[in-house]
Amino acid sequence: MKTTGIHRVGLGTDLHRIVPGRKLILGGVEIPFDQGLAGHSDADIVLHALTDALLGAAALPDIGELFPDTDPRFKDADSRMLLAEALTKVRGQGWSVVNIDLVIHAERPKLSPYKEAIRRSLAALLAIPPDRVGVKAKTHEGLDAIGRGEAIACTCVVGLANQTE
Ligand code: MG
Repeated sequence: MKTTGIHRVGLGTDLHRIVPGRKLILGGVEIPFDQGLAGHSDADIVLHALTDALLGAAALPDIGELFPDTDPRFKDADSRMLLAEALTKVRGQGWSVVNIDLVIHAERPKLSPYKEAIRRSLAALLAIPPDRVGVKAKTHEGLDAIGRGEAIACTCVVGLANQTE
């Protein structure tokens, strides 16, 4: 597949509260931290934002419609499975992932030591080379809920091309 010629873009965002007694999992990578993210599933905001970006690029129903948090099947669900299911639907409509780019909004923990591991994890989950995966981390300068360390969020964009390209 050529890496030029994006035919669709998709956008996804997610935010979860930071709470004690939970693991912090970002992009399928467990990050050492004394707190984690609250949520019905494993609360991996990076994979949730990515999944929504993929679904949006293909104009499919969003993650909340496909995997409702009222459904006990998705309690503590591994978000990698949700991503895999969304990817199958997107590919089933004839799309391939060209690239993704994302920002993790977190005051703490400091994410720069883990960005490369997250990048490689995402590339493996999407079966694309790591040079098509952008991972950035930003603080909120002590402002708002993210800046106060009460939440972590992710914003993700995805480019899709026709599978025949
Ligand atoms: Mg979520």
